[in-house]
Amino acid sequence: MNTTPRQQELLKRTYVDFQPMADFARDPLILERAQGLYYWDVAGKRYFDAIGGIFVAVLGHGHPRLLAAMRQQMEKMTFAPPLHAIADVTLEFIGRVGEVTPGNLKYVKGFSGGSESTEAAMKFARQYFRQTGHPGKYKFISRYHGYHGGTAGAMAASGTGPRKSKFEPQMAGFVKVFPPTHYRDQFSDWDECNRFAARTVEDVIINEDPETVAGVMVEPVGNTGGIITPTAEYFRILREVCDRYNVMLIFDEVITGFGRTGAPFAAQEFGVTPDMITLAKGLTNGCVPMGAVLVSKAVYETFMQGPDGIELFHGYTYSAHPAACAAGLATLALYQNEGLLTRAKTLGGEWQEAAHALRGLPHVIDVRNYGLILGLELEPLAGKPGARAFEVFRRCFERGVLVRQTSDVIALSPPLIIDSGQIAQLFDTLRAALRAD
Ligand code: PLP
Repeated sequence: MNTTPRQQELLKRTYVDFQPMADFARDPLILERAQGLYYWDVAGKRYFDAIGGIFVAVLGHGHPRLLAAMRQQMEKMTFAPPLHAIADVTLEFIGRVGEVTPGNLKYVKGFSGGSESTEAAMKFARQYFRQTGHPGKYKFISRYHGYHGGTAGAMAASGTGPRKSKFEPQMAGFVKVFPPTHYRDQFSDWDECNRFAARTVEDVIINEDPETVAGVMVEPVGNTGGIITPTAEYFRILREVCDRYNVMLIFDEVITGFGRTGAPFAAQEFGVTPDMITLAKGLTNGCVPMGAVLVSKAVYETFMQGPDGIELFHGYTYSAHPAACAAGLATLALYQNEGLLTRAKTLGGEWQEAAHALRGLPHVIDVRNYGLILGLELEPLAGKPGARAFEVFRRCFERGVLVRQTSDVIALSPPLIIDSGQIAQLFDTLRAALRAD
C-alpha cells in the first residue's frame, strides 16, 4: 500500500510482533477502521478479517452495544483501585461469566490479558499446593509448539522455540512434552496416536517425581503448532493422570473460550473439566484488554483458609478494569442472546466441507479444522520453512483477505457472525491463492 513519508519514517521507530519488520515496512498494513467482518486501511482498501483480529473478535468489529456499554461505564467511573475496592460492574461480570463456565469453575479473577492470566494460573497452582501440604510441587508440564504468552513465566511454559531462544535462559521448573501431531507418522490411527501422546505425560510426571509437579497446562486446540486438536480421549487421559498424581490440569482457553469450538468452552466440548481455565481475547471481543482465570471451588476455598490472613498476594493496577468488565458483560450478553456460543457448531458442517475440499490442491499436506477454526498445512519449500505459506498469506492479502500464517500453516478463525455466503467467498479466495503458482 502507499504510505506517506511520515508513515515510512515512523515505521522505522517501532516493531510489529513476531514478523520481519523490513518485509512489513516494504508493504505495510496500516489500518484505519473496522466494522463487522472488515477492516479498512488508510488508503481505503477493505480486508475481510478471516482471523477475527487475532482470535478476539467473535462478534466482529465495532459492535455498537459494546461501545455503548464501555462509554456508559467510562462516564460513571474510569478506574477502581483493585487493592481497596471492587467495581460493581466487576462483580456483575463475575456473575455473568459463571453462567457459562464448566463444572464449578465459577470463581473468577480478572486480569488484563492472556499472558497475565497464564502467570496468575501458575502462581495459583503453586500457592494451592503450598497450602495443601505439598510445598515441593512447583513444576509445569506443557507442550512443544504451545503458546501461553510473552511474559517470562508464560514464555517458559510456551514451547515455541524461536520465540524464546533470544531470551535464554528460561525460568526453571518447566518441562515439555510433544503434542499428538508430533507422533502422527508413527501411528496409522489418530486415536492411538493421541493415547500415546497423553500417556507420555504420565511417564514424564513419574520421572520428574510427582511431588515436584504442580500442573499440566495445555491449549485444547493448539494454535501456534498449526491448529492441533487432540481427541476427547486425550483430554480424558490427561484428567485421569492429573488426578492420579495430584497435579492440576490447566486449560489455556485464551483462543478456544467463548464459542470458537461450538461450545462456550472447549472443556465442555471435550467433556473434561480442568482445575483452572485461563481466558482473554474473546472475553471482551478484543475491544479492550482483559484476561481472567477461572478456578475450581477447591482452589478458591483453599486460598480462603490460608494461614496468612491475606488470600491472594498477587495483582495488577489494571486488573479487571471497569471498562473491560463493562465490555465483558456486554460481550457475554450478546454471545448468549445471539446464540454465538454454539454457532460454530451450526456452521461447522459447511466449514468442514469447504475446508476439506482444499485437500488435493497444490502443496496442501493436511487440513485440520475444529468448530470455526482451520489449519491448512502446506508442504515446506526446501530450505525455506514458512516461505510457501507466507506466499499464500500474501496472495490472500492482495485479494483483500487477512489470514494468519505461522511457519507452514495458514490459519483461519473468522468472527462467528460470518454467514454461509461469506464462508464460500473466503474459501474461494483461499483456493485461488493456493492455485496461483
Ligand atoms: N494463550 C494463548 C493460547 C494465546 O494464543 C495467547 C496469545 O496469543 C496468549 C495465551 C497470550 O495472550 P496475550 O497476548 O493477551 O498476553
